[in-house]
Amino acid sequence: MTSPPVAGSYYSAIMSDSRLVSLFEHLVREGKDVLLPEFDPQYGYTYPDIIKSCKVSPREVVEIINKIILLGLGNTEYHDQVLKCPYCGSEHIRVYFHCPFCNSTQLYKELLLEHIRDGVIGPISKFKDPAGTLVCPSCGSKLTVEGKDYRTIGVWYRCLTCYRQVDLPKITYLCRSCKREVTAHGLVISSISRLIINKAALEEFSRQHLAIRPIINELKASGYIVNSPGTITGKSGTSHAFDIVGVDKSGNVIAVDVAISKETLNESVILNLFVKVLDTNPTKTVLVCIPGLTEAARKLAPLYGITTLEGTSISDIITPLKSMLSQQIAIQS
Ligand SMILES: [Zn+2]
Ligand SMILES: [Zn+2]
Ligand SMILES: [Zn+2]
Repeated sequence: MTSPPVAGSYYSAIMSDSRLVSLFEHLVREGKDVLLPEFDPQYGYTYPDIIKSCKVSPREVVEIINKIILLGLGNTEYHDQVLKCPYCGSEHIRVYFHCPFCNSTQLYKELLLEHIRDGVIGPISKFKDPAGTLVCPSCGSKLTVEGKDYRTIGVWYRCLTCYRQVDLPKITYLCRSCKREVTAHGLVISSISRLIINKAALEEFSRQHLAIRPIINELKASGYIVNSPGTITGKSGTSHAFDIVGVDKSGNVIAVDVAISKETLNESVILNLFVKVLDTNPTKTVLVCIPGLTEAARKLAPLYGITTLEGTSISDIITPLKSMLSQQIAIQS
């Protein structure tokens, strides 16, 4: 057994297969962390999210799911019962109701009604007047409210071949694929799972791929050699990790951290970064804040030499990042 990767390496596991990248991009975009199976008339149960995002055949879906589980990116959970043909394994089973006397499948089903007040019982056809309204065939009163005036007490099946009536037809199953008849005893009871995506893997992917990667691309375009995550050894001898560390031709160092939160970020995020900045003293320090900073945190950042870029999504900060980088080049040259 391969042990699943520890947190922090999910991203590289996903990046090892372009189909997984497409799938995770799709999941982040749709805000999904559960993949539900759906019945496909041709292939049986499959996962439309995987087929759609990875552009694969239903056959390949199984391989992708196995890979997701093996890499620790998700797990399966019981979702629903699936009946299968014992001969060919097809999930395409249809049900037949037969007359137990002559085996005919030409049956007519009728509800049995009871007029509650006088207890008169009969098939629904006997309760219908020519206009189609329900009337008691015995006392003639109008029956309007189900449960109060009348109730359904059962069902009858009339065979249209031998004209006998039964309350329990014989039930058989037919495999639509191999066309063989199967009894209830013969049917294979199997199950289909839903796929629960590992939340930590999804978060790591979202952060790395959708937030950090676009920043890396901008830095590279501006001529930086980039490491992500990157480390800088401080004056104290301690090495400090940043989400991205870039070095340009002249040896100027840019350190970038990305802070993503559901709520507005407060001063603590600035202070945490400042501890690293104080020791490592990069040429430029940038903190990308999604969705943004509190007023106090925004005022604090420049005092500590930290440039902040705020936006509700990473695309909001790309333009300010670009102009910041071009100014940076202008200052340095
Ligand atoms: Zn009546
Ligand atoms: Zn019959
Ligand atoms: Zn079959």
